[in-house]
Amino acid sequence: MSCTHCGEAKTRADYPLYDAACKTCTVRAFAHGFPFWQSRKRGSMVPAYEQALRAAFGDGWMVAHAAVKVESDRIQQARAA
Ligand SMILES: [Zn+2]
Repeated sequence: MSCTHCGEAKTRADYPLYDAACKTCTVRAFAHGFPFWQSRKRGSMVPAYEQALRAAFGDGWMVAHAAVKVESDRIQQARAA
């Protein structure tokens, strides 16, 4: 499940557009977001990050978190390339 923005983002690490209705875009937005960055730096989830995930994904928030980590790694690799 993805949209035009997701297709563009595959080849551009810092692609700035998101479709609010697209879950893959939402995951990407989280991967770029400050709360995730704080959580990664701290080594555990900051409350703001967990709350935002729960708000966006409901019961699926843990699955979404795993997807955000994968997306974040992809973005960092794309930046390094
Ligand atoms: Zn998308």
